[in-house]
Amino acid sequence: MGGPAPPDSSWKGSLNVSYNIGPGFTTTYSTRKVKLHIHSNNKVTRIYNVIGTIRGAVEPDRYVILGGHRDAWVFGGIDPQSGAAVVHEIVRSFGKLKKEGNAHRHLLFFLQDNAKVLQARGVAYINADSSIEGNYTLRVDCTPLMYRLVYSLTKEIPSPDEGFEGKSLYESWYKKNPSREYKEVPRSQKFSNKAEMSTSDLNNSSVCFRLFLFQDVEKYSSYPVYHSVYETYEIVEGFYDPTFKNHLTVAQVRGGLVFELANSVVLPFDCRDYAAAVSNYAYVIYNLSKNHEEELSKYSVSFDALFSAVKNFTEVSAHFHENMQQIDINNLLAVRSLNDRLMFLERAFIDPLGLPDRPFYRHVIFAPSSHNKYAGESFPGIYDALFDIKSKADQHKAWEEVKRQISIAAFTVQAAADTLKEVA
Ligand SMILES: [Zn+2]
Repeated sequence: MGGPAPPDSSWKGSLNVSYNIGPGFTTTYSTRKVKLHIHSNNKVTRIYNVIGTIRGAVEPDRYVILGGHRDAWVFGGIDPQSGAAVVHEIVRSFGKLKKEGNAHRHLLFFLQDNAKVLQARGVAYINADSSIEGNYTLRVDCTPLMYRLVYSLTKEIPSPDEGFEGKSLYESWYKKNPSREYKEVPRSQKFSNKAEMSTSDLNNSSVCFRLFLFQDVEKYSSYPVYHSVYETYEIVEGFYDPTFKNHLTVAQVRGGLVFELANSVVLPFDCRDYAAAVSNYAYVIYNLSKNHEEELSKYSVSFDALFSAVKNFTEVSAHFHENMQQIDINNLLAVRSLNDRLMFLERAFIDPLGLPDRPFYRHVIFAPSSHNKYAGESFPGIYDALFDIKSKADQHKAWEEVKRQISIAAFTVQAAADTLKEVA
């Protein structure tokens, strides 16, 4: 979308107040009270899940899931229909492919159903909510396990961006939004489970791959018409994506992911990237704690156990990856054992007790921030325990909680390392 237009008198309403635009209320207005009358209906109603499947020829008990919601806040021109349309197109493509033969693994389309089976069999979940939120560049929110898969796929897909004709999607993504943490790769957002994920309880089933979006600027938590009555098909066709080239690109990325995940004999996950990410997050949270040097020593707070677990995870990951290169792909039992360990790695980060006061958020490495529900946070348990800790009345208790959260993190990272280990 273009820049903000200068206001003229036509944007003002007819209330008897002096109209103003940003940057927020001045003290003059802070005492004003507004009375709103809201009319809404509250009733129990029937919902429908639409589910399509393609049976896996070799591993029908391993599921690759492409899912999304179909209901909308109002008209849903962007959220979710820009995503649902993409799901329809991917399903159409897979229907064509099926005529040539079945997929290796089982494929499920549209699904928010049966959490237990998903916990046992889900290999990956690709969330197909909104395909667009702007038109700047690609936005990826995903588990570090899939970083390399996304890089290799986006190198094969043409960029829809102006000025990148003949170049790959990877290149425009990298040029417009390079990673701040890692050298020479594009940026991925912190993987976090938004409300729609947690309610469907999919956050404890396997690897979740979240939104693929085109965004303008990061500082906005969402696009201006988000969840409003102005989110229509017309705004998409008129402004966001007139030729639907961005929709096509998102369909290629999501469809390509589904194809690779369903058909690669060895799962296209790289655990070394998970270890690197966890290591990076451990340093970030440790550095944050250094703002309280005095208390760290007074209450004997140590990150040693966490760093030791991170080191183990890093070593085991490197070893695992080496073995993976040498696997005999005709030895189906060996392949299955290796794939299972990769599949269960993400689940190892789930704490069944959940985060403090947030029982539905159970991933120890990633969660939505408690302070900005549209941003992700790493080591959320430790982060929240440290947040604003100076203002807490009982300092002893507050720092004991920090220590408890560090223990949980260390235990969990070690458990993840153990998941990858070869059976002795
Ligand atoms: Zn949505």
